[in-house]
Amino acid sequence: MGITSACGENHVGKAPELKILEQICRKATETKKLEEEELTKLLNVFGERLTRAMETVKERRVKRYIFSPRNRNVWIVVGKTRDYLIMPAADFCTCDDFYFRVMDNQIHLCYHLIAQKLANALGNYDTFEESEQLYGTLMKEWER
Ligand SMILES: [Zn+2]
Repeated sequence: MGITSACGENHVGKAPELKILEQICRKATETKKLEEEELTKLLNVFGERLTRAMETVKERRVKRYIFSPRNRNVWIVVGKTRDYLIMPAADFCTCDDFYFRVMDNQIHLCYHLIAQKLANALGNYDTFEESEQLYGTLMKEWER
């Protein structure tokens, strides 16, 4: 999979939309909320992707799995028909939108990634602690 190359490309000269989102998320990490003005700004940048991301956050469909004892972190967004695996550090997601449009540079983030970033900043997600033995099984399912 092209995880490393996608990561490399994304980090060469960050897109303005990423900067705006990061800036707002940094502030939301402290305040645990989004101001009306920030929502409008995000909506202007991301359009429908923001609406879908906000719904996802509100419905608490962002999940964080921590695998002990090695504390490996995996983020999942529960979709309507399947789950999506998110790697925030690489801005990577397993959805079709990411594969076709983000890799193609038409957009920079799919709505799952936007949802994960917002949920993380706002603290609005569920955490599951699982054993390391389950890691392989779950990853296989999510990476499908
Ligand atoms: Zn996605």
